[in-house]
Amino acid sequence: MKLAGKTALVTGGSRGIGRACVWALAKEGAKVAFTYNSNVEAAESLVKELELDQHEAVAIQANAADGAKAVELVDSLIEKWEKLDILVNNAGIIRDGLLMQMSEENWLDVINTNLNSIYYYCHAAIRSMISARSGRIINISSVAGRYGNPGQTNYAATKGGIDGFTRCLAYEVGRRGITVNSIAPGFIATDMTEAIRNAAEKEITKQIAVRRLGQPEDIANAVAFLASDDAAYITGQVLTIDGGLTLGSGM
Ligand code: NAP
Repeated sequence: MKLAGKTALVTGGSRGIGRACVWALAKEGAKVAFTYNSNVEAAESLVKELELDQHEAVAIQANAADGAKAVELVDSLIEKWEKLDILVNNAGIIRDGLLMQMSEENWLDVINTNLNSIYYYCHAAIRSMISARSGRIINISSVAGRYGNPGQTNYAATKGGIDGFTRCLAYEVGRRGITVNSIAPGFIATDMTEAIRNAAEKEITKQIAVRRLGQPEDIANAVAFLASDDAAYITGQVLTIDGGLTLGSGM
């Protein structure tokens, strides 16, 4: 088990990619806390499943866009565990629409949830990682941040922003034994993509080199690797995991 003795926090860990990350980290031996926003049932069922499999897990309701809550919960985890080794910034939402019709509310909800949260959680966790001279930060961005999508100006702005943030922070903290990387998923089968999958799954699959949609575990396996000691020399990178969706295509 590559993460035995490590402690981890995954934001938005109750469903989708975050849920798979929680499992992947726990299976490698880490103690894992995760946040969720509103779906208590999904969070509680995950904790039960993890406990049944003999993993230690904590679920915390915390809107990722709430900076004060980020400080409170990161501090409480560090008090409980005496350290926080791994931070996975995964919480994210979409509020798609053409810019001409995009309300300021839909712009700000996405910026606050997807991008400001990265600042809140990294800022809250970094001091303790610096003291420990060790840490792993993994931010979940998206291929949309690099290639764009019509209807996603808000979302792509946050994901491109996350990748820039990742490179800068990696520079700042590398000499303290901390690595900071982004993972940019392509098209992953989760609740977030349910509507578009229902409308166009066959068409989308044809554009993917490996001819299948991604599964949350395709991302989570890479998260567990980047969180491990094996990835100590990888930092400031944006790892695209899209089954070849963006290879040589218009995207
Ligand atoms: P998802 O299936 O919609 O799950 C989102 C998770 O985040 C849930 O656990 C949800 O909790 C939590 N969450 C949502 N808003 C939150 C908030 N304000 N505060 C805290 N937690 C919140 O999404 P997903 O597809 O797994 O996406 C996860 C990440 O991957 C996102 O950052 C997304 O942008 C990125 N991504 C996804 C894809 C894809 O194809 N799915 C592609 C590229 C990037 P509740 O259940 O309580 O709401």
